[in-house]
Amino acid sequence: MNLILFGPPAAGKGTQAKRLVDTRDMVHLSTGDMLRAAIASRSELGKRVERIMARGELVTDEIVISLIEQRLPQLEGTGGAIFDGFPRTLAQAEALDAMLASHQRQVSVVIRLQVDDEALKARIAGRFAQAGRPDDNPQSFAKRLTAYNRDTRPLLPYYQAQGKLVEIDGMASVEAVGDAIDRVIAERLAAS
Ligand code: AMP
Repeated sequence: MNLILFGPPAAGKGTQAKRLVDTRDMVHLSTGDMLRAAIASRSELGKRVERIMARGELVTDEIVISLIEQRLPQLEGTGGAIFDGFPRTLAQAEALDAMLASHQRQVSVVIRLQVDDEALKARIAGRFAQAGRPDDNPQSFAKRLTAYNRDTRPLLPYYQAQGKLVEIDGMASVEAVGDAIDRVIAERLAAS
């Protein structure tokens, strides 16, 4: 089972991914986490992406595709991958299909968490006050939302055409969203 958690920033993808890692033998692949780790370690990559990320803009496809490619061998012998924050562009989605195919795998299902913009803004304001993540400030967050609507939302028809898209109400409680995700996984596993 290789699933993509899809949705705008602050939709709850990271929270649900962690829950799945705890309950299933799946590997969490978050390009945002990988990039933040690169920044924290002061690596060359970290220095290249730090300002772009703080502004709320997307880093290049090449960088994130390569980060994911390096991680795919880790899936061997596990329950599969949870992609969180990747893919974000059509080029990334196509690259993911090709990379997974070379590991005899494919995207099993794309779970879209639907949350309205006002709720996202409220969540982010709370997270910024608590955690102080630089790209959660109001200006950068507005850019992240714009990037999502411009570059990432167009992936929905790509996955819908493949019969892989499932939509879930992301405004519900963390538990209710988790239960809905569990039901989708159970259905897909039963059908495979
Ligand atoms: P996230 O934690 O997923 O919200 O990602 C935080 C930031 O990392 C984004 O605003 C982008 O600057 C960068 N980033 C993460 N994943 C990607 C991706 N797949 N493509 C481009 N930029 C990304």
